[in-house]
Amino acid sequence: MKITKTTTKIYHVEPIGKVLNETLFEILEFRDKHGHKTGFFKKCFICDNSLSLDKTPNMVSVSGLGNRFCCEECYEKLIKISDGGE
Ligand SMILES: [Zn+2]
Repeated sequence: MKITKTTTKIYHVEPIGKVLNETLFEILEFRDKHGHKTGFFKKCFICDNSLSLDKTPNMVSVSGLGNRFCCEECYEKLIKISDGGE
C-alpha cells in the first residue's frame, strides 16, 4: 500500500529588493566557492521558475527560512500586495 500525504506550508514573504550588486551567476559562484548551498537560489521561491543568471535577483525575506530570491514578475506582485497592507 502506498500513501501520499502532501504538507502545506504557509510562509510569510516580505520584499527586500536588489540589495546585492552582483548577478545571480556571481552570487552562485561565490557561494559555491565557499561551500554554501546554491540549489534554492537558482529558482524563484514563489513560482519555482529558473532565474536569469545574468541579472541581479530580487531578494525576499521568507519566514522560517531566511532570504530567498524571486523573479521580476513575482516581485512586482509582491510589492503590490505589500503596499496594500497584506
Ligand atoms: Zn516567480
